[in-house]
Amino acid sequence: MQKKPLIQHSQDFRDALLDWFRDYQREMPWRNTDNPYHIWVSEVMLQQTQVKKVVDYYERFIERFPDVQHLAAAPLQDVLKVWEGLGYYARARNLHKAAQVIVNALDGEVPRDYATFRKLPGVGDYSAAAVQSIAFNEPYAAVDGNIKRVVARLFLMDAPVNDAKSAKQFQKHAEALLDREAPGLFNQAMMELGATVCRPQSPTCLICPVNAFCEAFHTARQDEFPKRRETKPIPEHHIAVGVIYRGDEVLITQRQLDGLLGGLWEFPGGRIADGETAETACVRNISEVVNLSVRNIKYLTRVRHAFTHFKIVVDVFVCDYQSGEVVLNGPRDAKWIQVEALSDYPLPRVTHKFKDKLIV
Ligand code: SF4
Repeated sequence: MQKKPLIQHSQDFRDALLDWFRDYQREMPWRNTDNPYHIWVSEVMLQQTQVKKVVDYYERFIERFPDVQHLAAAPLQDVLKVWEGLGYYARARNLHKAAQVIVNALDGEVPRDYATFRKLPGVGDYSAAAVQSIAFNEPYAAVDGNIKRVVARLFLMDAPVNDAKSAKQFQKHAEALLDREAPGLFNQAMMELGATVCRPQSPTCLICPVNAFCEAFHTARQDEFPKRRETKPIPEHHIAVGVIYRGDEVLITQRQLDGLLGGLWEFPGGRIADGETAETACVRNISEVVNLSVRNIKYLTRVRHAFTHFKIVVDVFVCDYQSGEVVLNGPRDAKWIQVEALSDYPLPRVTHKFKDKLIV
């Protein structure tokens, strides 16, 4: 196949990409709407998360909070509950806060203006460009991980995709390619190409609609791109938590709203110190975090969970309340609840991994 240098043939590139996208795009519920709020919700959910996981969450979320007004008026706990299991909970908290800003200060309409929209809580360069282009056809290039990979291969870019310092280079190339007549469609087509054809491993170049323009394809170097900066190995933290029974109730604590898993509920616990046993750490952490003494401590199970930058191994104990009044040192709230009521609260994934083992 004859190679067409991309810089000189960028309109042919756009036409080939958009023709392919019109014919082969996957069905997704947010592709059948021009409602900017719905498009925004989908874009927030799709960050760091696979399409197939997002579909159900998106439909539930829109059914529960069909517009900005419903979202702004809902208690944060309800929003987190609908988001439960999707991870990266700051996304839900920011969406909720942003909805309140829109209702209280922006006439209740998602702003059709990049600069105003970009200032909302949780909105970064990517989501501002994606929402403004898809919902309002504004000419902004959205650059996510999929698009960086495609661009890196098209242009044989040496800039590492996982280095923030390279962001401007990727943005510049994506903007040069952008179809200014149909920016929303173009951005979606690039994302779709990255997700379904120009995949991280084994890209299907022979059926790629833009292979005539691709430097990596024509030099058979697809596997060398994108480049990545070496990252440190992911650390693993060892944690002990205690399910404290008082009669038929257990104690749960709520994490502070900012930070990891902010606003979610969990059982009290904390890190196991060097040289400390998990059981001793559990008793110590309960005392430090909620000021209670416990007895009859028994090992329940071990669960593991991986976050983006670290992993945790959690030893879970059950025990009985012995003495003390709850005084919080770390959590923002605590409640004694029936075990059956646990599912009324937004819980981290790691808690779901053992909660069915608890005695009701
Ligand atoms: Fe990606 Fe291959 Fe298409 Fe190039 S030809 S954009 S490497 S799928």
